[in-house]
Amino acid sequence: MYKAQNPDEVICEFKDSLTAFNGVKAASESGKGELNCAITTLIFEALQKEGIPTHLIKQIDNTKLLVKKVDIIPIEVVLRNIAAGSLSKRLGLKEGKKLPFTIIEFYYKNDELNDPLINDDHAMILNLVDNRKELDILREYGRKINEFLTGFFDKIGLILVDFKVEFGKDKNGNIILADEITPDSCRLWDKKTGKKMDKDLFRFDLGDIKEAYSEILERLKEAK
Ligand code: 5GP
Repeated sequence: MYKAQNPDEVICEFKDSLTAFNGVKAASESGKGELNCAITTLIFEALQKEGIPTHLIKQIDNTKLLVKKVDIIPIEVVLRNIAAGSLSKRLGLKEGKKLPFTIIEFYYKNDELNDPLINDDHAMILNLVDNRKELDILREYGRKINEFLTGFFDKIGLILVDFKVEFGKDKNGNIILADEITPDSCRLWDKKTGKKMDKDLFRFDLGDIKEAYSEILERLKEAK
């Protein structure tokens, strides 16, 4: 993040670095930042059209966005449509099992604690939000984003398995979507082949992330 001319705005740069398992696995993939910058821009623009407020103002260059300055709420909001990742590991649910309803989870953004799963009481005790209504707002936006993105990705032949979003408060105290939505923060599987097209390729050495991310960007552009 860099300062912008306007103190209410910041410049957000997408890097080529890749980390997984809370930084235990790290690497770099040339061109990934550019792909994720373009993917986030297309998704955030589409969400804005759907009435979901986001921090995006405009894309400045290949790897940079001008965004509204926000105070990030230190909660990772995770939505899950299909069992995978830590849900499968924690509860023994088979990867790929369609969930009977979407699960929403909160994780406390704290590297030292390894981003633990928390509930509303924990969020209140840790003062992560001002009141319980704000947690309802995070859930409400999360559900709207999931509903829209599930259809959005379906149209380009992708299954939205799960994803993580982060929110912040703007200068007026409004909660808006921040951070990014990219294949680094979503699980996306190809509808026809079931092939993973997200950061799991890197996490578990399953294949070339650049090829997959480029394919996602191409499909998003074609659908635009
Ligand atoms: P899981 O809890 O199964 O590891 O992750 C659930 C979803 O949230 C996945 O789509 C994963 O990519 C995303 N996610 C969870 N934590 C993080 C994180 O710290 N950074 C990013 N980029 N995505 C995350």
